[in-house]
Amino acid sequence: MESKRPRLGVSACLLGEPVRYDGGHKAQEFLTLRLSECVEWLVVCPEVEAGLGTPREPVQLRALGGGVRMVGRETRIDVTSSVEAVATAFISRLNQAQIDGFVFKDRSPSCGTHTVPLHNDRGEVVGSTWGVFAGAVLRNDPSLPTAREDQLAHRDLRRLFLEQVLVRWHRRSGAAGLPPLWDWKRLLAEAV
Ligand code: SF4
Repeated sequence: MESKRPRLGVSACLLGEPVRYDGGHKAQEFLTLRLSECVEWLVVCPEVEAGLGTPREPVQLRALGGGVRMVGRETRIDVTSSVEAVATAFISRLNQAQIDGFVFKDRSPSCGTHTVPLHNDRGEVVGSTWGVFAGAVLRNDPSLPTAREDQLAHRDLRRLFLEQVLVRWHRRSGAAGLPPLWDWKRLLAEAV
């Protein structure tokens, strides 16, 4: 599917959708007010799509049985395979709707990049790891430009991410008739 703008995956709560475990969101003004004018979004909340509902019991990542499992904080119900199934379905959607980058919610057991707290069986933090959904998306495409929402608060990191997105989009859709690269650079620069 061709796109006239860069297409970014995004954790739904960052665009203001009330999908968090407590029914809230984590809207980021830079995304909702500025970057939204320059990109198409491919919005996903892995936990809602996994059928966990909103509100829901918060989950955490635990090192169990030699692997990393996503379990309810209190009930310890294991929902790993449900979220993995959402990741698999999302990755197959990318065959039709390719993306040029992804903005992930920081520290989420589903959407977080490598800084998600990892707990032992007693619930103590013993390290950090990737969120189940984000890890699967990045394993599928290690060169995908990614940013956490906290990184977008830093001007230099923001610019670096947007430039990586722009280069990838231009490579993907550099068909005749699309606006020249510099035009989109200017457009994105205005959003910084
Ligand atoms: S961080 Fe991911 S799983 Fe959690 S509410 Fe946001 S979109 Fe949903």
